[in-house]
Amino acid sequence: MRDLSNDVVLHRSEGGFEFLQFRKLLELGVKHAYTLKPHFFNTRPGVVSEERYEQSVKNYIDFCKVIDVDYNKLVKANQTHTNCVKVVDMLPEKMCIEEGKYVDTDGLVTNLEGVSLASCNADCILLLLYDPVKKVIGNIHSGWRGTFAKIAVNAIKSMKEKYGCKPQDIIVCICPSIRKCHFEVNEDVKTICEDTFAYTNRLNDFIEYVGKDEAGTDKWHIDTVLITRILLEDEGIKDENIFDCGICSYCNKDVVNSCRADGKNYGLGTAVISLRNNQKNS
Ligand SMILES: [Zn+2]
Repeated sequence: MRDLSNDVVLHRSEGGFEFLQFRKLLELGVKHAYTLKPHFFNTRPGVVSEERYEQSVKNYIDFCKVIDVDYNKLVKANQTHTNCVKVVDMLPEKMCIEEGKYVDTDGLVTNLEGVSLASCNADCILLLLYDPVKKVIGNIHSGWRGTFAKIAVNAIKSMKEKYGCKPQDIIVCICPSIRKCHFEVNEDVKTICEDTFAYTNRLNDFIEYVGKDEAGTDKWHIDTVLITRILLEDEGIKDENIFDCGICSYCNKDVVNSCRADGKNYGLGTAVISLRNNQKNS
């Protein structure tokens, strides 16, 4: 498989899985990874077939072993494009996927050792957060709706309010997602973007008119990663503490899961992050 390693991420191939790890988080000893094709993590009950669901859960178990985290303490919110961030303040009794109090939730934060936070995407932005001072992690799903509803801001607020984190200490890693080169929208979404972010005075930096498509419909490209960076920096996150892998899911569709590139049977990649624990899986 093509190697996606760059200055920010390392592409690894281990235990049959292909995945990326952020060099900064490796340096700090934080267990984490973002998975690539061919594995998928489609766990939405009622949306995926039972067979695909079972395979996805098995993929989580196998992948947790590869990155040496306890799958029994894995928590995954069900991600419905909200801006809701919840605190995981109790050790789960078993693997918790898209259930319980984490329904209608798109972001999770915790300071519990051994808990793994998971999220998944196929074009949307996933943010992995880490405060090395307060030892707090976060895992945020931010599609364009979540980005416009400022879930990134809510994540930083949760870490401040619940754990006393200081924004200047927080590290944010941006996983592969669809980038400005391929995130094409119609006027409706472009208008919401303008209305939401006019206050930044930077609309021209992240909205670009592309032209008309074959049907004569006007199209724009939006840079949701830049919007996310602006939101984070407004919250006090330092520019040098934002580690963006810079990888477009669509441009790299041979390796990265992409909803827009792969169509209706698309697979989801997952990002997992865990605070250090001494427990082994076996
Ligand atoms: Zn692209």
